[in-house]
Amino acid sequence: MFSTTLESAFVSDTVRKFLLDGPKKLLIGGKWVDGQLGRTFHSIDPATGQPLAEICEAGEEDVHLAVQAARTALDGPWRNVSPAERGRLLWQLADLIEQHSEELSQLESLDTGKPVTETSFVDIAFTVDHFRYFAGWTTKITGETLPVSFPGSYLTYTRREPIGVVGAIVPWNFPLMITSWKLAPALACGNTVVLKPSEMTPLTAIRLGELVMEAGFPPGVVNIVPGYGQSAGAALSKHPGVDKITFTGSTRVGRDILQNSSTNFKRVSLELGGKSPNIVFPDADMDAVAGGIMMSIFFNQGEVCCAGSRLYLHKRIYDQVLAKVCERAQAIRQGVGVDPSTQMGPLVSEAHMQRVLSYIEKGRAEGGKVLTGGTKNSDQGYFVQPTVLEATDDMFVAREEIFGPVLAVMPFEDVSDVVQRANHTEYGLAAGVWSSDVKTALQVAHALKAGTVWVNGYSLLDPVSPWGGFKQSGIGREMGRYALEHFTEVKSVWLNLT
Ligand code: NAD
Repeated sequence: MFSTTLESAFVSDTVRKFLLDGPKKLLIGGKWVDGQLGRTFHSIDPATGQPLAEICEAGEEDVHLAVQAARTALDGPWRNVSPAERGRLLWQLADLIEQHSEELSQLESLDTGKPVTETSFVDIAFTVDHFRYFAGWTTKITGETLPVSFPGSYLTYTRREPIGVVGAIVPWNFPLMITSWKLAPALACGNTVVLKPSEMTPLTAIRLGELVMEAGFPPGVVNIVPGYGQSAGAALSKHPGVDKITFTGSTRVGRDILQNSSTNFKRVSLELGGKSPNIVFPDADMDAVAGGIMMSIFFNQGEVCCAGSRLYLHKRIYDQVLAKVCERAQAIRQGVGVDPSTQMGPLVSEAHMQRVLSYIEKGRAEGGKVLTGGTKNSDQGYFVQPTVLEATDDMFVAREEIFGPVLAVMPFEDVSDVVQRANHTEYGLAAGVWSSDVKTALQVAHALKAGTVWVNGYSLLDPVSPWGGFKQSGIGREMGRYALEHFTEVKSVWLNLT
């Protein structure tokens, strides 16, 4: 029985038809095919726990066929597509995504559980921006001439060439948007791609595959293999025909991917977990602070790699800000993601909800004080209340990535105290600083070990600005021109002129 959410007036006929018209197939070499395993799995509606759609499962053999198709496209038609034409194709894809944004927003919302207002204004809008941004790069990927001192006369120059076949492995929290972070630069640089979406949220990747074909990309340039991490994901990261892996997901799986990739020394870029500090000084604009804190931890149900899950409040404003945060957390309207009035949806799966609840229990057991929330919020679906918890730095809830709507709050004394404590983590993805004194703000921003620091804001992303982590939050940078370095090889050419 398929999910009752599909019957609601919020779901369009187009989306309903797409979901029920299954099982969804794999995209290999430009054709939609059944998996070699002959098995299917279901994508589950997190608001009800019922199936949304049936999907063919990709296994090792399918990954192999997809890699072969990507290699054939790389050595064949794709090699002859000019940079300008690659840009035009990427732009065409962005236009198609934009034209289908309502449908894609609903699909993403159904599959992940998150509010449709967020999927339309963030996930899908950013995906479009990303493809457009990298469409502009195709004709600007250049080398340089080098003044070598070698005796004689030489013209020495560099070229940036595609790396080859890229394996892209994507998580479930921003399925389409994070796919675009990988596909757009990979294709802009002339690579071909085998994409493995998360087994929990494969729907927008499958719909994207249809739009890729409609845009006119040659067969095999983009291949899509929905399947499980242990099988399809591991097969991709081990495959000798894959030249690069671009991965976003947990630090634990990132470590496996790094090991598996060593078989043929694949190029690897990793965007991993975080436990980001959000630091508020007493001279900050308190109205902006309250909204910023809510955004930093409760946006996307807290299922955000850069969630500001460790809130450091200066002791002078601790009580005042905490009271405001709790009040606002209690006012958040939870509901089915496709309902436009919903402010927070369910967590992505039963297992994830249980994990988040167990973290909260552990916080309680260690002496943390739950000020608001702290439990499941409905008999049906995977809803967890927005939770605020007073903690200390050594507690599990203040150290581990929870990946849910759980905020650990701690007071601090001064700049050196808070910087040292904020940096005391194995992660280093992002951080927030709130102060109206530019000296304090920048002093702290420069001292924090994090790939991105927001001052008087939070969760701001743009295709122009590089994204990635220090320490165990990752290797490499996505977005901006920095991404191009991870999708190209540099070649030096020496021409003897004597
Ligand atoms: P996950 O690591 O469990 O899975 C991510 C992807 O890897 C999925 O497609 C999964 O099927 C696949 N996978 C799992 N095991 C694999 C294996 N052995 N080999 C190859 N692939 C495998 O992560 P998740 O639960 O989907 O996402 C949540 C995590 O992602 C959090 O830790 C979060 O911080 C992180 N994340 C990071 C960023 C970032 O930009 N740094 C962005 C979003 C999410």
